[in-house]
Order: sequence, then C-alpha cells, then structure tokens
Amino acid sequence: MIEVIKGDITKVSADIIVNAANNTLLGGGGVDGAIHRAAGKAILEQCLHIRHGQGGCKTGEAVITTAGHLNARYIIHTVGPLYQDGHHREAALLAACYKNSLMLALRYAAHSIAFPNISTGIYGYPKQQAASIAIATVRAFLGEYTQIKKVLFVCYDQENFTLYSNLL
Ligand code: ADP
Repeated sequence: MIEVIKGDITKVSADIIVNAANNTLLGGGGVDGAIHRAAGKAILEQCLHIRHGQGGCKTGEAVITTAGHLNARYIIHTVGPLYQDGHHREAALLAACYKNSLMLALRYAAHSIAFPNISTGIYGYPKQQAASIAIATVRAFLGEYTQIKKVLFVCYDQENFTLYSNLL
C-alpha cells in the first residue's frame, strides 16, 4: 500500500498529487514551482480564487484544485512548517499536512495519492525526522481508513530515497 520511488512528482500518475505549497498559494520554488509549471496556469487561477476566499492556506492545512496537465484528478496543496529549532510545533504541523491531505483525498473519493517530501527542501526540516513523521502518519491513517489503496512517496533526492527505503 505504501511505495517509495525516486523521481519527479510531476511525472507520476495518481488520483491526487500533493504539492508542498506556501501560505500565499502563489507558487514558488522547488516542487511547488515544478508542479505549477507542469500543471498549467489554470491551477494558479484556482489558487488565487481560494486565496481571495480564505486568505491563503495556513501551515498544516490543505486545499484542493484540479490537476491541469498532470496525470491526476486533483492537486492538494498543503503548507509544511518552516523548520526553526524543533520547538515551534514543527512535528505536529508536518503530521497535520499528511493527515489533512489524506482526509481531503478521502472526501474527493481518491484511491491513490502521491506525496513529495514536504518541508525537507527550502523549509529545512531534518530529513530523517520528516521521513519518520510522514510514514508514521500515513500508516496510522491507512490503518483507520481503507478507501486509500496506494500512497506513493516520491523522493527527488537520493538522501530522502534512501531514508524512506530503509524506514519502509
Ligand atoms: P519545502 O518548502 O516544503 O521544503 P521544497 O520544494 O523546497 O519545499 O522541497 C520539498 C521536497 O521536494 C524536497 O525534498 C525537494 O528535493 C523535493 N522536490 C523538488 N522538486 C521536486 C519534484 N519535481 N518532484 C518531487 N520532489 C521534488
């Protein structure tokens, strides 16, 4: 049910592709930039609409748009925590990203979902800790809800790929 692959999440096929967005929902660097470039400008327009309605997205929360040119039905945009020192609720907020994305995926009747390694790029979350939190949160969710049949962790860098492979 849980798989790890190394590669570019914009090339992956799944009902839902998760984006590591920022609070503005306006796009940015890293995986966020890659997803917006590959999905097309209709996605940014939907993000702007959400932003006008609710003022962006809070850290740990998730919003949904269609997926444009990606091989997916929807993109879930979630905002990971900026890692400071581990004493600013980073772990709880990172777990909330995975949990809230999965809950939203359930509401949209998804069976498969692909996650990037949220917060482990520009936001500086220690990769080992982030991987443990991601896997534990997903496992707990899959134990409770059976609708989601496949969760893909898409690792862009070798370090994350090795960490996830070892943990799984
Ligand atoms: P954050 O601000 O949440 O740290 P980043 O985009 O900087 O977001 O990094 C999150 C993770 O996404 C990093 O591990 C980075 O290596 C990875 N990443 C960057 N580009 C891609 C991509 N095209 N597909 C999958 N993962 C990617």
